Amino acid sequence: MDYAIEIEGLVKTYPRFALDHIDLKVPEGYVMGFIGENGAGKTTTIKTILSLISPEAGQVKVLGKRPEEALSDVGSVLNGSCYPDGLTMKDMQFILSHQYKNWDSKEFARYLDMFSIDTKQKFGTLSTGMKMKGMLAAALSHHAKLLVLDEPTSGLDPVFRDELLGVLQNYMQDNGNSIFFSSHIVSDIEKISDYVTMIHEGRIVFSETKEELLDGYRILCLSAKDMGLANKKKMIGLRKTEFGAKALVRTEDFDDKKYTLERATIEEIMLYWIKKEEARR
Ligand code: ATP
Repeated sequence: MDYAIEIEGLVKTYPRFALDHIDLKVPEGYVMGFIGENGAGKTTTIKTILSLISPEAGQVKVLGKRPEEALSDVGSVLNGSCYPDGLTMKDMQFILSHQYKNWDSKEFARYLDMFSIDTKQKFGTLSTGMKMKGMLAAALSHHAKLLVLDEPTSGLDPVFRDELLGVLQNYMQDNGNSIFFSSHIVSDIEKISDYVTMIHEGRIVFSETKEELLDGYRILCLSAKDMGLANKKKMIGLRKTEFGAKALVRTEDFDDKKYTLERATIEEIMLYWIKKEEARR
């Protein structure tokens, strides 16, 4: 299998945080959603993929090359990044057309039109959502083989978020294109991802296909009476409820004829894992 992104043993240390031997693989032709709470290490991981920071150990390959060699084939939007306030999209078109060898002015104009962005308006005067749309238009306009998007849907209204997910699905129609994107809006990840990776305090908690996650986990609902019977070692993040308790469990670990098992959303799977990790500390 070819990989759009291959990360092995990645270590990056800050005074109060460390990416701790991260392994992560995004197969070519698939969408990987990257989730985790604030400060978990998503942007730091993405910065290494985009060659914006250098790790202390480990290996990162992007489209089979070193990250700095793959940049022209990667479309990216980084959380919090912005074009200079005084420049218009027309100015940016000029700059970007010199930066990317496959820059497509027609495609850029088409996206700006689709996103209703006035090419003559200064970037600094655009709303947060419009700024994001402008940067996404640029990321999509140089025939990138891989999109790396750090929270592309943050600051966007539900209507545009839906439109954007449609644009990303359309981008995936081209054979071999891949997307790696982080979001706090886990329902967006659930909608379009083939794979989901969760990071917590600089460590990967899981990295699986969406189906493996949705089929592989259930929420076990226990009455107060059943509490003593079930195997607590097999529970992930036990939560007390009015009637007993709930916990995330592996589907195969509990018999659905004996116990009440509910399907879990990816957001619930993430929240139970965080609870488990917190209890471990
Ligand atoms: P969020 O969802 O809030 O954007 P994140 O998962 O993207 O969070 P990161 O931005 O990767 O998290 O940050 C992880 C940790 O690394 C944080 O504790 C942050 O303060 C720390 N960190 C990031 N960059 C630096 C830096 N340049 N110097 C020191 N600490 C840093």
